[in-house]
Amino acid sequence: MDINKLQRENIKNLRPYSTARDEYKGQASVFLDANENSFGSPLPQEEAGESYKNYNRYPDPLQLDLKDAISKIKGVPIENTFLGNGSDEAIDLLFRAFCEPAKDNVIILPPTYGMYEVSAGINNIEVRKVNLLPNFQLNLDGIAEAIDENTKLIFICSPNNPTGNSIVRTDIETVLANFKGLVIIDEAYINYAKQRTFIQELTEYPNLVILQTFSKAWGLAALRLGMAFASSQVIDVFNKVKPPYNINQATQDIALKALQNIETVNDWIRITVQERDKLSNDLLALPNVTKVYPSDANFILAEVNDALNTYNTLVEQGIIVRDRSKVTLCEGCLRITIGTPEENKTLLEAIKNI
Ligand SMILES: *Cc1c(COP(=O)(O)O)cnc(C)c1O
Repeated sequence: MDINKLQRENIKNLRPYSTARDEYKGQASVFLDANENSFGSPLPQEEAGESYKNYNRYPDPLQLDLKDAISKIKGVPIENTFLGNGSDEAIDLLFRAFCEPAKDNVIILPPTYGMYEVSAGINNIEVRKVNLLPNFQLNLDGIAEAIDENTKLIFICSPNNPTGNSIVRTDIETVLANFKGLVIIDEAYINYAKQRTFIQELTEYPNLVILQTFSKAWGLAALRLGMAFASSQVIDVFNKVKPPYNINQATQDIALKALQNIETVNDWIRITVQERDKLSNDLLALPNVTKVYPSDANFILAEVNDALNTYNTLVEQGIIVRDRSKVTLCEGCLRITIGTPEENKTLLEAIKNI
């Protein structure tokens, strides 16, 4: 598989921006090459703790310290890792690097995460939709029919948002083995899943791109930090196209600190999975809840008697869930994020009283 050939023509020929730090990487005592402020940053001293000393300097464009720490947790080498300003940056880069506007197309599998289509629209790329089957699994025949010689990307979200289920592993492998473009598996919710990540399959499939994020299980949605794992050829393309300093120093510092607290994150994951299964059972016992779909994520999709009325009544009590009742295959459904045990109890009581 030739990743080079998949690239857009202008990207293939692009000479990337060369930063001051690309041109001189060594140790020195006087750096006067990047027009930074050598006096320092105006952060108050007490806030400018040990790691906040160098905010007057541009950050590492390749975030090697942070990638090294992530590599120790994920087992993925640094050259197979890209960090973005949220997963959304990686999604956008996939379009910008691999899809020729007004010519190429991508395949998405509704109901699914909304950003794939928005990002395609921004980049003027045709979106071909192959709905999931009623059991929320892949329509492999439909996907095969939708592919043509201009199809560059297929987005598979697993566990899927908003349905919550994992996609059958062998079906994903079928797509990976037969499609000549990139297969993106969005694993934003993988920490809550019984199914294991596809990270171990990276060496087998040069066309595999895995997206993960710090926004969900890691509890750092505000940081805007997403990960993409792929063959080094794909990562090299990302690094060529991304803005030079796409991950700021504060994000790099804070993420490094957070990675030391993995025990807390694992505790939260355990509690969330327990609460998810408990809330699913408790909701199903209510007469106004007609269906709760099995979930591998930190949310559940529940079909209720009158979705709009349920949604509005919850809003009146200050409880906000996501109304998905107009979404294909999710008719009459609400998407409910698993909160703290206390929050889940509050939600359950509120629905019981409708
Ligand atoms: C929440 C979510 C993301 C995370 O996006 P970020 O930009 O990293 O916050 C990615 N994919 C899916 C399917 C999601 O639901």
